[in-house]
Amino acid sequence: MGTVTQRDDADVIVVGAGPAGSTAAYYLAMAGLDVLVLEKTAFPREKVCGDGFTPRSVRELVAMGVPMREEDGWIRNKGLRVYGGGHRIELPWPDLDAFPSYGVSRTRRDFDDTLAKHAVAAGATILEQRSVTGPVVDERTGRVVGVTARPVDVDGRRAGDEQTYRAPVVIAADGVSGRLALALGIEKNPNRPMGVAVRTYFRTPRHQDDWMESHLELWDGEPGRSNLMPGYGWIFGLGDGTANVGLGSVSSRATTTKIDYKDLLQRWVANTPASWEFTPENQVGPVRSAALPMGFNRKPHYSRGLMLVGDSGGMVNPFNGEGIAYAMQGARRAAEVVAQARSRTTDSARESTLATYPRIMAEELGGYYSLGRVFVKLIEHPEVMRICTRHGLPRPALMRLTLKLLADVYEPRGGDLSDRFISALTRIAPAA
Ligand SMILES: Cc1cc2nc3c(=O)[nH]c(=O)nc-3n(C[C@H](O)[C@H](O)[C@H](O)COP(=O)(O)OP(=O)(O)OC[C@H]3O[C@@H](n4cnc5c(N)ncnc54)[C@H](O)[C@@H]3O)c2cc1C
Repeated sequence: MGTVTQRDDADVIVVGAGPAGSTAAYYLAMAGLDVLVLEKTAFPREKVCGDGFTPRSVRELVAMGVPMREEDGWIRNKGLRVYGGGHRIELPWPDLDAFPSYGVSRTRRDFDDTLAKHAVAAGATILEQRSVTGPVVDERTGRVVGVTARPVDVDGRRAGDEQTYRAPVVIAADGVSGRLALALGIEKNPNRPMGVAVRTYFRTPRHQDDWMESHLELWDGEPGRSNLMPGYGWIFGLGDGTANVGLGSVSSRATTTKIDYKDLLQRWVANTPASWEFTPENQVGPVRSAALPMGFNRKPHYSRGLMLVGDSGGMVNPFNGEGIAYAMQGARRAAEVVAQARSRTTDSARESTLATYPRIMAEELGGYYSLGRVFVKLIEHPEVMRICTRHGLPRPALMRLTLKLLADVYEPRGGDLSDRFISALTRIAPAA
């Protein structure tokens, strides 16, 4: 009697079609691999986000050939406007070889849909309304060889029987829940920074602002009489009559805070100038919140056939809460590694190539994220926050360096003194 061989459904299965999943799918398809993406929602759909893209995200989009035309809703911005400690300064994105000198904004409802279509156009298959329920683990080898998923309706309710999809490699791009990783026992590290952010939309005359605006004064009680929180409020114009308005805070440990962020946003918004028209009548949609997993808070990024990319691997920047650029960077690297691994002729060579992915991520971002952890520990002290906003903001040279450091937009090789200073810091910091 012959043994029954289980056929694979694809060369790679990607779970989730957010920025991480669609980017991985795009690069895998471009490398000629058969890629199947399982996504629990149906596009277009919302994602709680600030909808802001720094030059680092734009660089990833340019690399993928995603058209960013203004008539399609891509609104360009030229830098960051910062308010704090009684100061207001405008910091243009720097002119660098490594990055474009502009950012963009676009709702995640449109962006995620566009990116998913871009991956499909490259040859990827995306099955929507498939909620992945867990990994399929080979009993003999302990490796992930596929996933189980069930069809769901647009409200996420079960709409059919569970099915099994098989592939030799699975990429978990399922976001902050880290469900697939958890099923393998890969827990988040409670000693890594964690952010919480809330956002809503307002119809406002400020919708065409071509600066990303951030407000550093977030008080945990009465303004001026309570503590300055580590974090910022933002206003990102979307050019369609609305702006994304939100705020986020960070903690050096994944502990729950007692702060009511929705209430904090309501109070902040109520104190903004009347000309911005952030009134209850102009609010579009509810205030929604989500967590930001930072500084590689879930590792290892590769284990037993499963790669973690984007929020599932805790890839949000602890300095500023940006996650899209890193989800895309991680996905690009993961796809390159999978394509290389596939060309190896023995199991051990394939495995050894797959294991290079966490090393590459640590090399590219580990040092910078270690600095980010120190930064979060410092700004957790209200006094440090106060001194930085009051005395740092009026110093233009210092702020230009700070922008490069906080936005992770500096020349990695060469550049001016500030670029070389930041590069040196990231190299000295241990990639823990
Ligand atoms: C309020 C807020 C504001 C933010 N603002 C910004 C910003 O302005 N700029 C920025 O760069 N970053 C911002 N971030 C961070 C950014 O949103 C994330 O880092 C980014 O979305 C991570 O992308 P991802 O692809 O890893 O995960 P996600 O975008 O979360 O995508 C995960 C995908 O997986 C799907 N999925 C989940 N579970 C399953 C399952 N079991 N089966 C099938 N599919 C599944 C989900 O439906 C989703 O489509 C913000 C975050 C928050 C909370």
